[in-house]
Amino acid sequence: MAEIKPYYNTHIDCPVCNSDIEYTKVRSKTIKLLKQDSDFCPYYEGENPIYYEAVICPECGYGAHITNFKNINKYERARVREKITKKWTKRSFTGQRNIDKALEAFKLVLLNLTDMEAPKSELAKICMRIAWLYRYDNDSKNEERFLEHALNNYIEAYGQEDLTSEGKLDQYTCLFIIGELCKRLDRYEDSVKWFSRLIMFNADPQHKGKIPQRLIETARDLYQEVKDIMAAAKEDID
Ligand SMILES: [Zn+2]
Repeated sequence: MAEIKPYYNTHIDCPVCNSDIEYTKVRSKTIKLLKQDSDFCPYYEGENPIYYEAVICPECGYGAHITNFKNINKYERARVREKITKKWTKRSFTGQRNIDKALEAFKLVLLNLTDMEAPKSELAKICMRIAWLYRYDNDSKNEERFLEHALNNYIEAYGQEDLTSEGKLDQYTCLFIIGELCKRLDRYEDSVKWFSRLIMFNADPQHKGKIPQRLIETARDLYQEVKDIMAAAKEDID
């Protein structure tokens, strides 16, 4: 019997140039989630589906996260045609991806989002994934660089965007990620500040029921961890 490949090609219409394009997906049955880091970076047994989340149109160069590929407005479409398509060399992104191929695709998505002036939460999501790809590759310097970009975009998103609408990043997860990224980047005082905001929301009856219990419990653990690190650092100085 022929071995079943862990990935396959499927079709989607490009919302920018209207071409019927192919992109590669991982068969969910062939993978197993092994664990997740505290910033949600996942580890799989089998092919890593994160590698395939950046979908690029080979015809016009439009690229987006697979969950957002169709969500593009008239203004953004015009920006992509003007900024991306005019300079685009047609090339394919289907088939198996390694980290380098995945990075190339994700960086094109980041370029698209920047050129179309997309919401900061979208930019943050892509920066996070690029940081994870560098983490898989043990490249901590570049990982930190993109965690930093993700952090700045999440902070802007928290201040600017309506995070109450369905299907988008919610305000509680946003607070959590900001606290977690500050911790990863050794900004302990900021980390405590952002985790505290989330923990305080949980004491407010208006918010309490809307915050997932696991998120709040993890936030409390991480808050304590950061406090301990700060106390230990203080002892070293004293
Ligand atoms: Zn296209």
